[in-house]
Amino acid sequence: MKSKNTEQELQQEIERLRRENRRLGETISLLQDKTDNITFKEKYAVKVLDTLPDMFSIFDRNGYNIGVVSSEETNHVGKSNAELAGMHMSEIIPGEAYRKVWSNMQKVMDTGISSTAHHELDVDGEHHYYENRIFPLDEEHLLVICRDISERVKAQSKLDIYKKALDRLSDCIFSVSVDGTLVYANKQFIEMYGVCQPMGTQKIYELPMAVKNHRQWENRLREIRDHGGNQVYQSAYTWPGETRQQILQVSAFLTREREEEVVWFFTQDITDVIKKRDEFRELNLLLEVILNNIPVYLFVKDPDNDFRYLYWNKAFADYSKIPASKAIGHTDFEIFPERENAESFRSDDLELINSRERIDKQETYVTATGETRIVKTLKTLVPMDGRSPLVIGISWDITDMQNIEQELIRARIKAEQSDRLKTAFLANMSHEIRTPLNAIVGFSKLLMTANSKENENLYADIINQNSDILLQLINDILDLSKIEAGTLEYVKRPMDLGELCRTVYQVHKERVQSGVTLVLDNKDAQLIITEDYNRIMQVITNLITNAIKFTSAGEIRFGFQVKEHCIYFYVRDTGLGIAKDKIENVFNRFVKLNTFAQGTGLGLAICRMIIEKVGGEIGAESEPGKGSVFHFTIPYDMDKRRAELKKRSESKERSSERLPKKQDKIKTILIAEDVDSNYLLLKTLLEKTYILFRAKDGEQAVKMFKELQPDLILMDIKMPRMDGMEATHIIRTYSKDIPVVAISAHAFESDRAKAIEAGCSDFLAKPVKPEELERVLSRYTV
Ligand code: ADP
Repeated sequence: MKSKNTEQELQQEIERLRRENRRLGETISLLQDKTDNITFKEKYAVKVLDTLPDMFSIFDRNGYNIGVVSSEETNHVGKSNAELAGMHMSEIIPGEAYRKVWSNMQKVMDTGISSTAHHELDVDGEHHYYENRIFPLDEEHLLVICRDISERVKAQSKLDIYKKALDRLSDCIFSVSVDGTLVYANKQFIEMYGVCQPMGTQKIYELPMAVKNHRQWENRLREIRDHGGNQVYQSAYTWPGETRQQILQVSAFLTREREEEVVWFFTQDITDVIKKRDEFRELNLLLEVILNNIPVYLFVKDPDNDFRYLYWNKAFADYSKIPASKAIGHTDFEIFPERENAESFRSDDLELINSRERIDKQETYVTATGETRIVKTLKTLVPMDGRSPLVIGISWDITDMQNIEQELIRARIKAEQSDRLKTAFLANMSHEIRTPLNAIVGFSKLLMTANSKENENLYADIINQNSDILLQLINDILDLSKIEAGTLEYVKRPMDLGELCRTVYQVHKERVQSGVTLVLDNKDAQLIITEDYNRIMQVITNLITNAIKFTSAGEIRFGFQVKEHCIYFYVRDTGLGIAKDKIENVFNRFVKLNTFAQGTGLGLAICRMIIEKVGGEIGAESEPGKGSVFHFTIPYDMDKRRAELKKRSESKERSSERLPKKQDKIKTILIAEDVDSNYLLLKTLLEKTYILFRAKDGEQAVKMFKELQPDLILMDIKMPRMDGMEATHIIRTYSKDIPVVAISAHAFESDRAKAIEAGCSDFLAKPVKPEELERVLSRYTV
């Protein structure tokens, strides 16, 4: 050491040492600080590594593991961290995974740039996905960070499946954020709407087929919000290049995704659905119209609901007078007035349910309006989806059809019978017509050359008789044809049956065969009935004539009795009689038991027709050799008749003024007749008793009536210039009393009625028979 320096030098040395000391202190504290820092990082780096879920391994460039720096828990390769040290990568993970990681490691080594690779491993029986990122540490070492991404991969694959599924849909699905950015769109949407920009960049209002413009998008958004963020609507589109309009049903809902509002759209093409629905509606309407207009009654009942009606078509409603509203929801018991009907319907329904066999039946039932009808009904079960079958019924009214059928059957039988009878008729007629005609022709010729008055009378008588026969025959045929044609006239008027019987008696009493007496049981009776005088006369005359024909000894007794509800008329004879098995036959047409007897075989058939028309019955009992009784009835109501009589007598009193008065003595008769031969006949009959005048037409008749004031007029109806009807009408304006007797070839009741209506007092049919003329004239003479 050098000698002691000066104090100053010492002082300076101390100062320098202090400064050195301070600097060292600072350095030490700095160093101290540094040491502390390293310890912290080292200390926490390991801890941090331990908390990380990834496996951190360090490999040398040849693939040998240097060490695992992460926790044991991250180790998923099946060997502990310690065991791994020094092991080659190829021993740690299986072939496929190793190759992937190794090639990636090579790349990192070569380029010095980190890289990411993936590999899969089965760990504890489960398949795992790993992502390994490889970083270069230095020339020799690499860090491999291996992360288990199984959850992410699985989630992703699920998402992929959903996306694929959505892409396969024919519907469009897309989501749009509120500013109009397309967030998601499935394949269908992308293709249909021509999306060309990536998701997140395309605006929905740039796709005019989806939303026309920004404003429309705003409106749409508002609407969705107005619907509470959930709206279903329909829109119609015609896509470019297509003609068919498509109808889309869109469901839109607003949702919040990652703090952002997004609208999801689901569109469905319902064009076909709507078309089908419209077609279905149309078909339904058509069916409804058909069902309501077919003339069959349709109904459907529900067996699960006490067989209440589910359907009741219009035809049924119209027919039954029960509207569908009153039937649907009700049972037969509530609908039909007759319990019996409802019970029968119900038993059919039950039978149908039990047997499952279609029911086909004919039933008679009483309608709500009380009418009895016959209907044909088919009932069947109709299987239904998901519920028990329904009962369907189809009915139609066959009442009219059945009536027609019956009528047709009757007509057929009648036609067949007529056909058979026609043959018999022709055979009969030729004989029946020829016989009297031959007599008339033959004796007319003889009459001209008759050499004595006696012969003349004889021939005239024969001609007369045969004319009557021929006339009767013609009348019968005419009646029959009228009956056949259904035009037989039957004009009811009050008449006295007693008087009619007396007339018959008078006419026939002399015509009986010798040794036979005609007896009228009710000689003085008076019985007013309202029937057709001529027809009743025809029937009685026929029965009497028959009796006369077949009775050669004993008596023919006739008359009538008033029974409870009818008049019983009888003609009893002691004649030939009829065999029991033939008796019913005699009322058939052309039946003649005795071919030698005169007659057409039509009389009784006509009688039967007439009596049946009146509502009565005709019959006969007989014993061959002993005699027969023919009888008929006419319905008769005593009380009604009494009331009628009373009324009639009152009205007669009132109208008696207008009736033609009887003359004291008829002296002059005006005959209005244009045909000479007809006039000649009348003249021959009347000229001995009366003073006659002749008018040749109606006009002349009126004129002569005024000039001559005759006591009676015989008025031919068919005349030139003015007919008898008109002439009578005019004459009646001058006199209400003068008897005017109409004469006409038209012998129908309607002609008589017309004449009486025109003012005629009486009516005579051509050819005029002397006794008829006499009878009529006698009415006007006291
Ligand atoms: P016709 O015009 O031929 O008499 P009807 O129909 O009146 O025809 O009678 C038919 C037949 O019935 C007659 O031909 C006769 O055989 C029989 N007949 C009718 N009335 C009598 C009677 N009173 N006694 C016996 N036979 C009768």
